[in-house]
Amino acid sequence: MRKIAVFLALALPLTGHAQQVLVEAESFAHPGGWQLDTQFIETMGSPYLLAHGLGTPVADATTEVTFPETGRYRLWVRTQNWVEKFSDVIDATAAPGRFQVKIGGTAVAHEFGTTGAAWQWEDGGTVAIDDLTTKISLVDRTGFDGRCDAILFSLDPDFVPDNSSEVLPAWRRKMLGIAEAPRNEGPFDIVFIGGGYSGACGAISAARMGLKVALIQNRSVLGGNGSSEVRVWAQGNTPPGLYPVGDIVREFEDDATLSPGSYEEFEDEKKHRIVTTEKNISLFLDHHAYEVDMASPTQIEAVHAFDTRTGAIRRFTGRTFCDATGHGTIGLMAGADHEMAEKGRMGMSNMWAWENADSPQAFPETPWALSLEEGDFPYPRKFHAQWFWESGFNKHPLLDLEEIRDWNLIAGFGAWNALKNKGAYERNDPDKLAHGNARLTWMAYIGGPRETLQLLGDIVLTEEDIVSKKPYDDGCVLTTWSVDLHYPNKQYLEKFSENPFISVAVHGKGVDRKRGYPVPYRCFYSRNIENLFMAGRNVSVTHEALGTVRVMKTCGMMGVVVGKAAALCAEHDVSPREVYYQHLDELIELLRLPGNVRRATLQDEFAVDPALPALAEEETDWITLSQLEGIVVDDDQAELVGAWTHGAGLKHHVENGYRYIGAAKGDEIASATFRFTVPEDGEYEVRISHQPHENRSSKTPVTVRSADGETTVPVNQRIAPPLAKGFFGLGVFRFEAGKPGSVVVTNAGIDGNAHIDAIQVIRQE
Ligand SMILES: Cc1cc2nc3c(=O)[nH]c(=O)nc-3n(C[C@H](O)[C@H](O)[C@H](O)COP(=O)(O)OP(=O)(O)OC[C@H]3O[C@@H](n4cnc5c(N)ncnc54)[C@H](O)[C@@H]3O)c2cc1C
Repeated sequence: MRKIAVFLALALPLTGHAQQVLVEAESFAHPGGWQLDTQFIETMGSPYLLAHGLGTPVADATTEVTFPETGRYRLWVRTQNWVEKFSDVIDATAAPGRFQVKIGGTAVAHEFGTTGAAWQWEDGGTVAIDDLTTKISLVDRTGFDGRCDAILFSLDPDFVPDNSSEVLPAWRRKMLGIAEAPRNEGPFDIVFIGGGYSGACGAISAARMGLKVALIQNRSVLGGNGSSEVRVWAQGNTPPGLYPVGDIVREFEDDATLSPGSYEEFEDEKKHRIVTTEKNISLFLDHHAYEVDMASPTQIEAVHAFDTRTGAIRRFTGRTFCDATGHGTIGLMAGADHEMAEKGRMGMSNMWAWENADSPQAFPETPWALSLEEGDFPYPRKFHAQWFWESGFNKHPLLDLEEIRDWNLIAGFGAWNALKNKGAYERNDPDKLAHGNARLTWMAYIGGPRETLQLLGDIVLTEEDIVSKKPYDDGCVLTTWSVDLHYPNKQYLEKFSENPFISVAVHGKGVDRKRGYPVPYRCFYSRNIENLFMAGRNVSVTHEALGTVRVMKTCGMMGVVVGKAAALCAEHDVSPREVYYQHLDELIELLRLPGNVRRATLQDEFAVDPALPALAEEETDWITLSQLEGIVVDDDQAELVGAWTHGAGLKHHVENGYRYIGAAKGDEIASATFRFTVPEDGEYEVRISHQPHENRSSKTPVTVRSADGETTVPVNQRIAPPLAKGFFGLGVFRFEAGKPGSVVVTNAGIDGNAHIDAIQVIRQE
C-alpha cells in the first residue's frame, strides 16, 4: 500500500515531550471573531485562525489549557507578518496582522505577527503559568488579518519547535494526543471529496441511485464558490433536450441575484438540508482530505481526512472516489495524469461589498497595503468589487495560493484606503469626501479559485470540439456558457504590472448557448487511475474549454452524471471506464431518470419520491425533440437541395431553428427530404411543423412517400398550424418496417417562402 500526501515534506525528528504543551488555534473552544482558514493546509501545514475584521479588531478567541505543572514556560506562537512577503512593493514594517496572547487575564507584552515573510514560530519570551488550567486568549489588535496557527508552551527554555509545513506531522499528533491509527469509515460505494456544486450534487445523485456515499468538505458550509463564504452566483443553464441531469442542480441552487450577493441569498442552510436529508450520504463537514492510500499504482484504496478543528483523522475506503476539490488534489496525490498551464491561467478572486451609511464612516490608514489612488482600479460608484478583482494569473495555483489571497487583500484594502483617506471630494461640496459615508461590509477571506489543473480522462475536450459540435455518443452535460477566459486588464496594469489584480473577461463566440453542447462522460474519469472520477472545474478539458464548462450549474450536472455512473460501477463491479465501454446504454437509461426518483439500495426499484420536487422542464422558447412523441426528424437532419436559409428568430421552433427558401427560379427546384424508418408495419399519422408568417407560401407542396406511393398536400404556411406544438396534419399513411418513408418539401410553384422545421410520424392504434 502506498501512502501519498499532497506535497512531500522533510523527514522530521520526533519532538513531542511532556514538557511542552501544544495548542492548535483552530481547536480554541470559543473562536470569538476569528475565522477558521483551511485554504492553505498543503503549503503551511495546518488550518489556522484569522482575524478578518475589515479594520476593526475582532472579538478574542479563548480556550482553556491544561498544563502538566505550573511554572515558567517559554511561549512560542506560529504566525507571520503576512505582508512581509510583499516588502519589495509595500512597506511591511507596519505589520497589519498584530495580535497578543493573553494568559489568564494578562496580555503578554510581545505583539505577534510582526516579523517573518513565511510561517514561523515567533518567540514570545517566558511566561508564568500559575494554574494548571488556564484561560488563553488571542487578542487581535488591528482587524487586518492577523493569523495564528498554534501556540506552544515549553518548560525547556532551549526548546525550539519544528517549523515544518508537513500536514499533521508525527510530533503534532503526539502532542495533541491524536490516535496513531485513523478511524475507519466505509467502505463506501463512492467518496466525493469537495462539497461545491459538483461534489454536493454528485453525492445527492449517487445517494438517490441507492449508493452508500461519503461527502468530505473542508468548510462548515456546502456550495464551494457558490456558498456565502465566496458568494459567486451559479450560472450556466440546465436546458432540456438531452437528459434531466439538471434537476438536482436546480433543487440545490440558491437565489443569488448578484455576485457578490448577501449572505442570505446563498442559502447555506438550504444546501445543507438537501444533503443531510439523503439517508445514504454520510456528510463530513470540516474535514480536509490530505492523503491517499493506493491499493496499486492505479487504484485508490482510501482517502485520509482530518477534522479541521480537532485534528482527528478518518480513513475513508471506497469502491470509487470523485475528485470534486476544484484543485484536483486527490488526483494529484493518486498520481493521476494531469495538466497545469505554466502561466496565464485564470486567477483567484476575493470579492468585496460596501454600502452607503447615513453618516460619515472612518477607515484606518493602510500604509502596508498597495499604494493606490482612484484611477488605479475600477471606481466603485455603484457596484461592489466583483469577479474582475482577480489575481494570480502567473503564480502557482497551489504553492502560491496564500500569496495570491493575500495580494487580493492588500489590493482591496489599498483601494479602500484610496477611496476613504485620499479620495476625491464631492464636486459641489469640497469638504465632503465622495465616499465619506461608504462602509466596507464584506470581503471574502476564502478566495474563489477558477483554474488549478485538469485531471486527464479518455477525452480531453477542446474548444474546437465544443464550437464545431463534435458528436460523442456519451455527450451528457450541456455546457451553455461562452468560452469565457480572463486576462489582466491593461487599463490597470501600470502600477503593479508584475502582479495585476484587475482582470478582463474575453468571451469567445461559437458555443451554442441556447441548446448547449453535450460534454462527454469520458471527461469525468481519470485515464490512468482506475477508480477515480472527477467533476467540477478539474475535469478533463483544455484551458479554453474550461472557459465554458467551469460555471457552477454545469459543474453540478457533471457530479450528477458521476453519481449515476458510480451506480453502474457498483452494480457490475466495473471501473468508470468500463461503464462507457460496456454499459453505455444502461448509463443513458439512468441519465434519463428525473432528479426526483430514488431507490434506497441498488437492489430496490426506482420510484418517484413525492417528497422531492417534481420539476417541470425549464421554460424555453424552442421545442426539444424529447418533448415530441413518435419519430421526429428535424430540419438539421433533412437532405437539402438548394440554398435554404437558416433562421431562429421566430419562437417555438423545434430544436436549433428552421429553414426557408423563396420560389424556384426556372427549373432549379429546391427540396428538403426528411427520411425515416418505422419500427413496425402499420398506419402512421404524418405531421409537419412551420412558423407562420405573412411572407410564407399559401400552397407549399409537401409530399409524403409511404408504402402506398406518393401523396402531395399543399400547406398554407401563412397561418398557424392547428396541432399541438405547431404541427400540421398531412394525413394517415401506411408504412412498412424496414422500408424507408420520407416527406419532401419543395419550392415548386409557391407564392411566398417555403418553410421547414420538423416532421413527426405517430403510430395509429
Ligand atoms: C470570482 C469568481 C466568479 C465566478 N463567476 C461565476 C459565475 O458568475 N457563475 C458561475 O457559475 N461560476 C462562476 N465562477 C466559476 C465557478 O465558481 C467555479 O468554476 C466552480 O465553483 C467550480 O465548482 P467546483 O465544485 O468544481 O469547485 P468549488 O466551488 O471550488 O468547490 C470545491 C470545494 O471543495 C473543497 N475542498 C477543496 N479541497 C478539499 C480537500 N482537500 N478536502 C475537502 N474539501 C476540499 C473547497 O473548500 C470547496 O468548498 C466564478 C469563479 C470565481 C472565483
